[in-house]
This record gives sequence, structure tokens and C-alpha cells, in this order.
Amino acid sequence: MNLDVLKPATLLLIMLGMLWQCAFADQTPQKRPIFLTVLLHDDIPQAEREHIRRDYFVWLLKDLESFTGRRVYLDFIERTGPLTAIDYQGRHEENTLRDWTRLVDQYIAKHNKPQFITHKYLLLTRNKISAKTLGLTKPGHYAAIASMATYTAAAHEIGHMFGGTHEASEVIYKVGWWCETNITPTRLNLRANCYLYSAQNKKLMLDYLNKAP
Ligand SMILES: [Zn+2]
Repeated sequence: MNLDVLKPATLLLIMLGMLWQCAFADQTPQKRPIFLTVLLHDDIPQAEREHIRRDYFVWLLKDLESFTGRRVYLDFIERTGPLTAIDYQGRHEENTLRDWTRLVDQYIAKHNKPQFITHKYLLLTRNKISAKTLGLTKPGHYAAIASMATYTAAAHEIGHMFGGTHEASEVIYKVGWWCETNITPTRLNLRANCYLYSAQNKKLMLDYLNKAP
């Protein structure tokens, strides 16, 4: 019979390991970061690409990082064949989202990307999906489409992917005017954007993210 005998060198390593664990046991472990992969549709002209980070994402990352306590990594991907050339208008919206999800699945498989609830994939398009639709996804899903037609459409869909709902959104009166939080279902030009998630949506998103260490 083969016995697995611990040798002194192994014992020493184990003891060092235990000491290391003791030394760091009282530190809060780093929460798993959020990874947002934004794919820019081929229909976005070059001149409009330059301000996308600032106009659609910088404020969103700041809000997300502040209430989740997680680092948010934003990655832009451009001109990758069928993935950024998908036909997103004039079809049944369910089919559009299904086709987009299939392309994201292929991308994940091809690049060996981890599939975890903290990883989300958003297609940013120049135009609306239809006259009334600015974005598409499902609650808690990992793939979404959002139009550049309003500054908050990307944040709206990202919010849904992290469990946020229309019902939990809010229209807030601040600094003398009304503003819409990111997941407000109907965008009214009369109202401003708050560039924030509502308190209740923050809670829902935290509940969702708490499933990840
Ligand atoms: Zn929505």
C-alpha cells in the first residue's frame, strides 16, 4: 500500500501557508470585479466614437463602482465581422436578441472568456432598434443591445442585466427640475437624466451581484 507521507519540507510549507492565512484573515477579500464588454456597431461613424466613453460610460462606471464596491472594467471592441455588423432593425425584437446572444456565445467560446454573472456584453448601435425601442435584453441576461439615441440607454440595459427593473426606477425632483433614473421605462425629453440608478434599483443590483463572491 502506498502511504502519502508528509515530508519535513512539505510540513514547513504548510506551516508557512497557515501563518500567511492568519496574517491576512482579518482583511476583507477583494470582491470579484465587473467586466463590461461593449461592442461598437459598424454603423457608428468614426467621429462619434471618440466621445463614447465619456458620454455613455464614465459616469456610469463611477456610479456602479461606488454602490457595488467592485472595480468595473470596460472593454471596447470594434469591427469584428458579423459580431459588430448584425442587422438590428426591422425584425421581431425577440429574434434580434436571440441572434445577438448567439453571436456573443460564439465570441465567448472563441476567446475562451469566463461565463459569470459579473461579465456582460453590450452592443452599442448608432440608431434606435425601432421607433419605440432604444434597447433590448432580458432580466439578468448577459447580452444586450442599446442605442446611442439617448445617453442612458446603455446604462438602462446594463441595469436590467444586473437585475434592475422599471418598477424600481424613479423620477426625482432635484435642483429645481425632474430627472429620470437610468431604468425609467419611458424617456420624456422634457425631463433630464439623473445619470444614476434609483436607490431601489441599486438594492436589486446589489442583491443580484451578491450571488458572486
Ligand atoms: Zn427597460
